[in-house]
Amino acid sequence: MDKSKEFTREKLTLPSEGKKLLLHSCCAPCSGEVMEALIASDIDFTIYFYNPNIHPRKEYDIRKEENIRFAEKHNIPFIDADYDVDRWYELAKGMEDEPERGIRCTMCFDMRFEKTAEYAAANGFDVITSSLGISRWKNMEQINDCGLRAAQKYPNMEYWTFNWRKKGGSSRMLEISKREKFYMQEYCGCVYSLRDTNKWRMSNGREPIKLGTKFYSDED
Ligand code: SF4
Repeated sequence: MDKSKEFTREKLTLPSEGKKLLLHSCCAPCSGEVMEALIASDIDFTIYFYNPNIHPRKEYDIRKEENIRFAEKHNIPFIDADYDVDRWYELAKGMEDEPERGIRCTMCFDMRFEKTAEYAAANGFDVITSSLGISRWKNMEQINDCGLRAAQKYPNMEYWTFNWRKKGGSSRMLEISKREKFYMQEYCGCVYSLRDTNKWRMSNGREPIKLGTKFYSDED
């Protein structure tokens, strides 16, 4: 049975009568609900995995493989884009100590969305969006600004600012993650977010993150 049909959801339509969506995905937990909402709405979409911010490579591979596993389960095309981490570090120079949701994150979203928009324009997609905004840790306005800026560079390209958290999206995201036993990442992604999360954990008497060990379960 297709479990995506078990949830009651509003039927979605692409903005501006768009026909084909390229979904930038950051990870399986964030994109699980987005993907199932798109499937339930019969929207033609492809996943674009472009996240060279993720450090280290081991964590990147785990997050990507989880996303591929779920895409294959639903027969959704999956584009595995470059891990051009050198460029990410080049762009992050001087922003190493910026806090989360600051200018380093704007750069990080810009980089990922620019590449998403470029691929979309070259491959017949007229709408792009991202699963990034579903996370309550993220600033939705910041993400939307970056997405709109990237799409503006191409005529007839639109960034879909749909709020995936609303109308039960956040709770379905968690339910799907538990149902699928997705890998649970414990920091945003880059080396600086790993450093800062570990600093916080240690100052609160917690162990540093052990990569590759935590998965969603019914206890979460
Ligand atoms: S904290 Fe997250 S969004 Fe910000 S730069 Fe690091 S990986 Fe990118």
